[in-house]
Amino acid sequence: MKDLTILGATGSIGSNTLKVIDANPDTFNIKYLTAGSNAEKLAAQAKKYKPTAIAIANKQKLNYLQTELSDKKIDIYGGRDGILEIAGRDDVDLVVNSIVGPPGMEPTYKVVNAGVDIALSNKESLVMAGSVIMKQAEQKGLKIYPIDSEHNAIWQCLRGEDLREVAEIILTASGGPFRTLSYQELKGVTPEQALDHPTWNMGRKITIDSATMMNKGFEIIEAHWLFNMPANKIDVVVHPQSIIHSMVEFCDGSIKAQLGLPDMKLPIQYALFYPQHREVRWENTNLAKIRKLTFEEPDYRKFTCLKLAQQAVKEEGTASAILNVANDKAVYAFLNGNIKFTEIPVFVEKALDNIKILSDPEFGDILETQRQTEEFIDNELNKRK
Ligand code: MG
Repeated sequence: MKDLTILGATGSIGSNTLKVIDANPDTFNIKYLTAGSNAEKLAAQAKKYKPTAIAIANKQKLNYLQTELSDKKIDIYGGRDGILEIAGRDDVDLVVNSIVGPPGMEPTYKVVNAGVDIALSNKESLVMAGSVIMKQAEQKGLKIYPIDSEHNAIWQCLRGEDLREVAEIILTASGGPFRTLSYQELKGVTPEQALDHPTWNMGRKITIDSATMMNKGFEIIEAHWLFNMPANKIDVVVHPQSIIHSMVEFCDGSIKAQLGLPDMKLPIQYALFYPQHREVRWENTNLAKIRKLTFEEPDYRKFTCLKLAQQAVKEEGTASAILNVANDKAVYAFLNGNIKFTEIPVFVEKALDNIKILSDPEFGDILETQRQTEEFIDNELNKRK
């Protein structure tokens, strides 16, 4: 049995990770669990899996957990410090980081510093701090296993291959709910429309990122760091059925693809048990029933977020941290009804143009860039009021 930490255990990826472990008994011992603010769910998980310690980011929920688990021998921490304390523990074999958004970045840094292998679902870790985290992981000889379906697919396609023979990584994109809308129509899109994703069922923030295609932009940046690929060797193709999760083209023109139904339990299971394919089958992919797989070029004029991400990855340094934080702020401003859907990239571009980009940053520089970007976007949003 391996000891496991799950950071962000009550979210969609965290809960699916526990389902995968339930289906593969006697493989992992759940040692630590953390959550943002869903204390009820965390308490239920703690009762079921009996971890050594748990942490909740929202300090106000600490009392509830202490009362609820008073008869259990479980250490309970609260606040951001509690999350980081658990992330930094080195007495586990693997950490799953499924924290959503920028708060997930620093925990990854802690895990890597503690010298523990990580199964990574949090995007911000590599988008914002890819250079720092990959350098650290390499120095310590650690493994970073991607859970994101696209990177998990590329990782599977690259198995046994020589990276020097790769001509191109081809990321597939569903195209989101607005693939067929005109730019004019995009301007009037509401948060409710944007939250209705055709193929993947995800959280609110990432669903908007999928609708603007910024999510795919982030995935270009992640692929760049995970597979050490220059940005010009990472391409995006729109594939609305989301059955091919991504592909790798080799120097002889041969293309390998990984296929499956859009269910995150499959990539989670592969990441947890790599290099094994386990017998547990979540769903059958019936290709005859699916019948058609289609592909098209992404519309870069309509989805400017994708362009901005490509620029940021070429600039390197703190550019993609600015991109990420500015986008995060702008997406919530859209969800709160303060800006239009088509203004999300406008705010991101402004941030990239105005905030100083540092090359070869240290971890502290990234945190400082995060602070500056948040302040910048807040000021820009205030000007609107
Ligand atoms: Mg993805």
